[in-house]
Amino acid sequence: MSQPQAPQDPHCIFCKIVHGQIPATKVLETSQAVAFLDIHPVNPGHTLILPRAHHAHLGELPDDLAAHVASLLPRLCRAVRAATGADGLNVIVNNGRSAGQTIDHVHWHIIPRFRDDAVNWPWPQGEYVGDELGQMQFRIEQELRASSDAVGG
Ligand code: 5GP
Ligand code: ZN
Repeated sequence: MSQPQAPQDPHCIFCKIVHGQIPATKVLETSQAVAFLDIHPVNPGHTLILPRAHHAHLGELPDDLAAHVASLLPRLCRAVRAATGADGLNVIVNNGRSAGQTIDHVHWHIIPRFRDDAVNWPWPQGEYVGDELGQMQFRIEQELRASSDAVGG
């Protein structure tokens, strides 16, 4: 029996890269994932890794596919760090426009970092006041309990 077709969006630039319709500088390919160099790197060696199947956001990714992509991250991180001589890496997934996502095919950024590079980090961070921390814990736990695919749920 033939495998069901992985989801694909004909308008998605990353689907076009996955299917070889536009070029990309690929560094790793598996049956379910592809990694290639970002065309506008934050620093040289900036790499993207994504599932071949089109899913817009991390929250829509099937667990097994998320696990497969995640399983490739340690080796890819070691390779990017060794190849670039980076002091460190930022591994980031931008989810949604407000979070900086511009291409709606979920992808992880692996960004080489150097001690004196010009990248702005850290982000500004705030404080919880009163019982806000506990209330937030309650709300997130409630959502996790409500979802059938919650870890341990
Ligand atoms: P996002 O902002 O969605 O998290 O990241 C999208 C990334 O894809 C950006 O860093 C951008 O430079 C990169 N990008 C956009 N178009 C292309 C392309 O055609 N080829 C490659 N290799 N990278 C791209
Ligand atoms: Zn896509």
